[in-house]
Amino acid sequence: MPNEPKVIDGRAIAEKVYAELRREITALKAQGTTPGLAVVLVGDDPASRAYVRSKDKMCRELGLHSVKLELPADTSQPELLARVDELNHDPAIHGILVQSPPPKQIDESAIVRALDPAKDVDGFHPLNIAKLALGDASGFVPCTPLGCLRLLKESGVAISGAHVVVLGRSMIVGKPLALLLMQKGIDATVTVVHSRTRNLAEISRAADVVVAAIGQAGFVRAEHVREGAVVIDVGINRVEDGAAPRGYRLVGDVAFDEVAPKSVAITPVPGGVGPMTIAMLMSNTVKAAKASRTRSP
Ligand code: NDP
Repeated sequence: MPNEPKVIDGRAIAEKVYAELRREITALKAQGTTPGLAVVLVGDDPASRAYVRSKDKMCRELGLHSVKLELPADTSQPELLARVDELNHDPAIHGILVQSPPPKQIDESAIVRALDPAKDVDGFHPLNIAKLALGDASGFVPCTPLGCLRLLKESGVAISGAHVVVLGRSMIVGKPLALLLMQKGIDATVTVVHSRTRNLAEISRAADVVVAAIGQAGFVRAEHVREGAVVIDVGINRVEDGAAPRGYRLVGDVAFDEVAPKSVAITPVPGGVGPMTIAMLMSNTVKAAKASRTRSP
C-alpha cells in the first residue's frame, strides 16, 4: 500500500524562521544595530528583477535596512567593483548580494572575490566556502543548502547517519549542500551524483534522503526513489502551459505525482525549498549584523 506522504510546507517553516528573526532584529535594534542588506542588480533580466524585488520586500517586512542598487546593463566591471567597494565600507550594510546572472561583460567570480567575506551573505566567497569545508561556523553557508537543512530538521528527519544522495554538483546548491550535510554534528553519509554518473537511478534508490538540484523538470521518477525515502526538490523549472496566466508554470526536478506516493516526506514546487532560500538570506544578514557588533571598535 502506498505511503501517505507528508508534504513539507516550506512557507510555514519560513514563517517560523521569520518569527525568530523578528525577535533577534528587535534585540539588535535595541542595541543600536539595524541589520542592512544591499542587493545589486545589473541589467533588467525580468526573473532577476523579480528576485530582487522579493528580497527587498522581505527586508522591509522584517524591518531591515534595505538598499536596492539597480545598475544599467552596460555597467563595466570596474564600475561594479567600485560600487561593491563602497558597500564593503558602508557601516549600515551588513550583507551584500550581487544578483546572478550578471551581463556577459561582468566576471562574476571576480565580483564575488571582491566582496568583504564578512558581508558575503550568499556564502559564495572562497573564504566562506573554505570555512564550510573546514566546519568553521563563523562563515556564511549558501542560502539554498542552508534552507534544505532547515527543512529536514524542522520536518523531524533523522539526518545523522542517513544516506543522502544529492543530485547536482553546482557551487550554488549541490556541492555546498554536500559539504554541509557531511559536517561533524550533522553527520549524513553523502553521495553526490551529476551528469556523468553511471547508474544514477540505482544510486539514488539507495538513499534515505534524495535532494534533487539539477534543473531538469520532472527528472526524478519513481524508479529513482525507494519506498519510504524523503525527497527534497530544489528545482525551479518553467514548463509551457497554455492554460496558465503567464503561459508557463513552475515545476521541480521531481515528478511529484509518481514520487510522492513512495515518499514519507516530500517538498512541493512551489512552496518547498524556494521560500526557505530567501528566509536563509535574511537569517545570514542578521548573523552578519550580529558579527559586526563584535568586530566594531
Ligand atoms: P546548475 O545548472 O548550475 O547545475 C546543475 C547540476 O545538475 C550540475 O551539476 C549537472 O551536472 C547536474 N545535472 C544536470 N543534468 C543532469 C542529469 N540529466 N543527470 C544528472 N545530473 C545532471 O544548476 P543549479 O544548481 O544552479 O540549479 C539546479 C536547480 O535548482 C535549477 O532548477 C534551479 O532553478 C534550482 N534552484 C532553486 C533554488 C531555490 O531557491 N529553490 C535556488 C537555486 C537553484 P554537471 O556538473 O555534470 O554538468
